[in-house]
Amino acid sequence: MDGLEPVKICPKCASIHVNWIAGGLIGAVYKCDDCNYIGSFILEVKARDVQKFKKEFESERQKE
Ligand SMILES: [Zn+2]
Repeated sequence: MDGLEPVKICPKCASIHVNWIAGGLIGAVYKCDDCNYIGSFILEVKARDVQKFKKEFESERQKE
């Protein structure tokens, strides 16, 4: 574990509790356990950048 492996992140709530639920011709579909987001669009960051990403995500959200 060098922190470089990709981690999937929910684009809605920045949770890392994202599960692959389906795949096929239309592409993979993921579901977030925390906000129940379902979709094929998912964010991916390096494991070592997850905390940084979450921080930025939170501060972005507070601006709105
Ligand atoms: Zn989510």
